[in-house]
Amino acid sequence: MKYYDYIITGAGAAGLMLAYRLANDSFFDQKSILILDPIERIADDKTWSFWEDGKGEWDNLVSKSWNSVIFANSISKLKIPLDSYRYKMIHSKDFYHEVWSVIRSKSNIKFLKQEIVKLVSNNKYVEVHTHRSKFKASKVFNSIPNSENYTKQNKYPVLKQHFVGWFIKSDSCSFDSSAATFMDFDIPQEGNTRFMYILPFNNNEALVEYTLFSKNY
Ligand SMILES: Cc1cc2nc3c(=O)[nH]c(=O)nc-3n(C[C@H](O)[C@H](O)[C@H](O)COP(=O)(O)OP(=O)(O)OC[C@H]3O[C@@H](n4cnc5c(N)ncnc54)[C@H](O)[C@@H]3O)c2cc1C
Repeated sequence: MKYYDYIITGAGAAGLMLAYRLANDSFFDQKSILILDPIERIADDKTWSFWEDGKGEWDNLVSKSWNSVIFANSISKLKIPLDSYRYKMIHSKDFYHEVWSVIRSKSNIKFLKQEIVKLVSNNKYVEVHTHRSKFKASKVFNSIPNSENYTKQNKYPVLKQHFVGWFIKSDSCSFDSSAATFMDFDIPQEGNTRFMYILPFNNNEALVEYTLFSKNY
């Protein structure tokens, strides 16, 4: 069974960011690191937006930022300046490209497209069983989403969050590109919690997203 100092299971946002940090820290140059995920994520499969005060580490990847947000419901619509904060957007393909280029430059870090089926730990190390082979490591960083955390408990209600988004281009000036419509609740709620995002890139192009929290669909 091949041994690694560290194994990162799951190469999504968390696993890749951890691998990127290890790759950028010379302390880990002598450590053998394995990343396991059945999917090598490189596509523009998500658009991440987040708050940040002033400049940030990922600013070179930010495709658009806004200094105001709009919050609306059926009674009012507020445009709120963010002061020193910015609401920033990163396309996942830019994030993946940046982190993979650093991770791939390190000979001590290996990526394998394999699906984990089981983790077995004892006092000395952790065994990682995939559908194809077995590995062991002194430390495993597991970022595989574990739905049992919420499906096997009754204390809290479990809601699903659904997202659907469209990139829209209009013929006329339709958007205020200085502000992200952060949450617009002025849509039929139909017994759930529903709101729209409008993230304008300029005055006629925007990412429009619809979000719904519900018990089922
Ligand atoms: C459309 C969309 C838009 C979003 N927008 C935002 C946003 O604007 N702002 C924001 O903060 N968050 C946003 N999120 C949420 C954000 O993407 C997640 O919170 C984030 O990806 C979580 O990172 P993670 O590494 O925990 O999980 P993931 O990124 O889901 O990574 C988990 C990884 O584990 C792998 N995996 C699963 N099972 C196995 C297995 N058995 N063996 C090996 N690997 C496995 C998966 O292939 C995946 O690569 C959005 C999510 C989506 C889907």
